[in-house]
Amino acid sequence: MPGCNAVIEGKDEAEVMTKGAEHAKTAHKMTTMPPDMTAKVKAAIKDKK
Ligand SMILES: [Zn+2]
Repeated sequence: MPGCNAVIEGKDEAEVMTKGAEHAKTAHKMTTMPPDMTAKVKAAIKDKK
């Protein structure tokens, strides 16, 4: 997230997106994820194998 350094982890992309949406809602008062935000979150997902 811009201006946010929260690290969101999950076992797969779907879990990360779910947690990301929840974080955006609770921490940033965002009720919806704008498409560009979704793209940014996906781009920020690091593959931790
Ligand atoms: Zn945040």
